[in-house]
Amino acid sequence: MPTESAFSIQQALAEGINRIDSDSARLDTELLLCHVLGKPRSYLFTWPERELTAEQRQAFGELLARRIAGEPVAHLTGLRDFWTLTLEVTADTLIPRPDTETLVEAALERLGDGPYRVADLGTGTGAIALALASERPRWQVIATDRVPEAAELARRNRDRVELHNVEVLTGSWCEPLGGLFDMILSNPPYIDEHDPHLAEGDVRFEPRSALVADESGLSDIRQIAEQARNYLKPEGWLLFEHGYDQGEPVRALLAGLGYAQVTTLNDLGGRARVTLARMP
Ligand code: GLN
Repeated sequence: MPTESAFSIQQALAEGINRIDSDSARLDTELLLCHVLGKPRSYLFTWPERELTAEQRQAFGELLARRIAGEPVAHLTGLRDFWTLTLEVTADTLIPRPDTETLVEAALERLGDGPYRVADLGTGTGAIALALASERPRWQVIATDRVPEAAELARRNRDRVELHNVEVLTGSWCEPLGGLFDMILSNPPYIDEHDPHLAEGDVRFEPRSALVADESGLSDIRQIAEQARNYLKPEGWLLFEHGYDQGEPVRALLAGLGYAQVTTLNDLGGRARVTLARMP
């Protein structure tokens, strides 16, 4: 191969970091390059001088162009790490975010080994249900999603990570559930339709139905909280992820529906992120 067309891993990294206009330019570039090479990230730093083949260079160029146009890295690679798991991602669901680990941690802090029955509503990729099941093999975790493509994706992810204590049911919130649960949790849509955040970054490529809710973002949380009263055991836990500024309205809503011990938890950055409550 003539030297002028040689293109090393190091050069590919430099090009991506230069051209992607995002705080995550370096990580984005690394993930795209690993995807093209079919190698783990450590490979990039072990073999910086290694050259890409013409096909790899072309594939990297195409992915880079799509990333620069705004497409989420997870849509380009089809994968996203969450908790300790690598999950398949499609445009049918929300892309799992590190923020949601606050909800997973809060759930694990409240219930030990079990066996317990736990439901994750609006599961999307299945991220929350699978993270919980991976930590608590004796829990029976039921994940629901109204969108058939999302439920199918959650099932594929369940099979991918081989967590057989997760069952995925198609249906809206609590509707497909049977029996009573020790815990019900959800990362539902909670963004107000006028929130300027919806015009920036990855959310532009995610389904609005996974992001936006009526009543200033609270309508789905309210619906779930109303339904969950019929599916929680006495003293059963209800947990929600919500926006930074929604702690107070979510607490008021849960207290108004008769829940006890209503509490908001902050994430590591000190921002309200999760509100939890118990059946009396
Ligand atoms: N936290 C996500 C965001 O702000 C939204 C998640 C959700 O609506 N459930 O992009």
